[in-house]
Amino acid sequence: MLEVKGINIFRGEAQILWDVSLNIRQGEVVTLLGANGAGKTTFLEAVLGEHHPTQGEILFKGRNIAGNSPFEIARIGIACVPEGRRLFKDMTVYENLEMGAYPKRARAALLDSLAWVYSLFPILEGRKGQIAGTLSGGEQQMLAIGRALMSKPDLLLMDELSLGLSPKITQEIYGTIQNLRREGVTILVIEQNATLALAHSDRGYVLETGRVTLQGSSEDLLNDEHIRKAYLGM
Ligand code: ATP
Repeated sequence: MLEVKGINIFRGEAQILWDVSLNIRQGEVVTLLGANGAGKTTFLEAVLGEHHPTQGEILFKGRNIAGNSPFEIARIGIACVPEGRRLFKDMTVYENLEMGAYPKRARAALLDSLAWVYSLFPILEGRKGQIAGTLSGGEQQMLAIGRALMSKPDLLLMDELSLGLSPKITQEIYGTIQNLRREGVTILVIEQNATLALAHSDRGYVLETGRVTLQGSSEDLLNDEHIRKAYLGM
């Protein structure tokens, strides 16, 4: 579904990603691991069209989207749950979800998508009239996921889902990843919490100072000595 081939990304004068390649097949959950500043968010933003590669290709369903605008990329079926959620905090839960359905094909399916999101996160239905900024951290994360789903994405990119959440809420949120994959959504998870992300994914990639240094099945990565020392604190 997504094939990133040897991309270089600069931010200003600085090269942040070097010859990065990563594949995600339809229906997979893939983790991108890396320490602070490794370039994970830059990678995600490149797929979303916010940075354009100076070299390499980003193929989505076989079509090169490197150079497309973020709006075009949302329209063809890639959505994101950004780090820090970036909700419309003064708007209600319902209004945030409605905003997520802005691509044309999503607008037509708004009511169905809403029913789908409420079935995944019943608490959002109970709070649909509540101002988003007054929700708990876990509820806000659910709303950020729900808003992304309202665009009816084929590929969902999720950045640092667990940041600032309690272990219990984090487990609950990760539980919904399994529901989503059963419903055919392909997912890329970006995480510093390696144990959690690998436990919920099929395969993983490790990004270190802008380069992919390791890749494999999540099980192999969980047992890899370097990963255990560098990312699992063992
Ligand atoms: P984190 O988990 O802290 O978000 P990350 O792996 O997602 O880390 P990025 O946010 O992609 O890393 O940052 C990668 C590198 O790009 C860092 O060295 C950072 O200093 C640099 N960087 C981030 N934003 C800019 C910018 N606007 N201009 C230039 N360099 C930047």
